[in-house]
Amino acid sequence: MAKRGAGQTPAPIYTVYCENAAQVSFFLRREAFPFMPTLLPLADTPTSADAAWTAFVSRREQLSRSMHLHVCNGCDGCGGRCTAGFLVTREEYDAVQAFLADANPAEVSRVAAQNKIVPWEGAEETGATVTLCRYRDTERNNCSVYPARPTICRLFGQTAWLPCPIEAVPDYPEAAPGVWNAYRRFERRTWEGWEEDWAVAEKKTVVL
Ligand code: SF4
Repeated sequence: MAKRGAGQTPAPIYTVYCENAAQVSFFLRREAFPFMPTLLPLADTPTSADAAWTAFVSRREQLSRSMHLHVCNGCDGCGGRCTAGFLVTREEYDAVQAFLADANPAEVSRVAAQNKIVPWEGAEETGATVTLCRYRDTERNNCSVYPARPTICRLFGQTAWLPCPIEAVPDYPEAAPGVWNAYRRFERRTWEGWEEDWAVAEKKTVVL
C-alpha cells in the first residue's frame, strides 16, 4: 500500500456505533484496517434525518409567515410562561449552542448566572414559584436566544392550544396543528436531557 505523503488528504475515518445502553464507539483508520468495509462515513453527507429536519424547518417558516408576529413586537406578555422542562430536538439544541458561541460571552454568562426560580406570576402572594427556561433573561425580560429559539417558542401565543394570554393575536393559522404533529415525530428532550445522555455516553465510550 502506497504511503500517504505530506499535503495529501488524510485517510477517511470510519465509525461503528452500537446503539444500546452500553454504547461503544470504535474509531478506526482505514489504513490501519484496510480490510474494513465502509460502514458509516463521518463525512458531512446529508442523511435522511437531516433532510427531514430541513423540510420541517421550511414548513415551519412557511407557517410563521402566516402568523401575526408583528403583534408581538415589543410585547413580553407571555414571557412569564417560558418555563423550564419543555422538549427540543437535537437540531434545536445545536442551533442554540451555535448562537451562543457567536454571542457576547459576558452576556451569555450574565443570563446563565441568573436565578430562574421566580414567583408564580399572578399568584405572588401564595409564595408559589416557577422555574423559567435557562435562556430567559430575567433582568431584561426577554429571550436571550430569540433568533435561535426552538419550535414551541415560535408557536407560543400564535396557536389555538398555546394562545396569546392577552388576546392580542386576532386569529391562529389553520396549518399550525399539522406542523406541530410533524414536529412531534422528531426525537425531543429537555435541554438538560440531551446533556445528561451525552455525559453518560461519554463515560461509556471506548476510543481505540
Ligand atoms: S403572544 Fe401575545 S402576549 Fe405573547 S408576545 Fe405576542 S402579543 Fe404579547
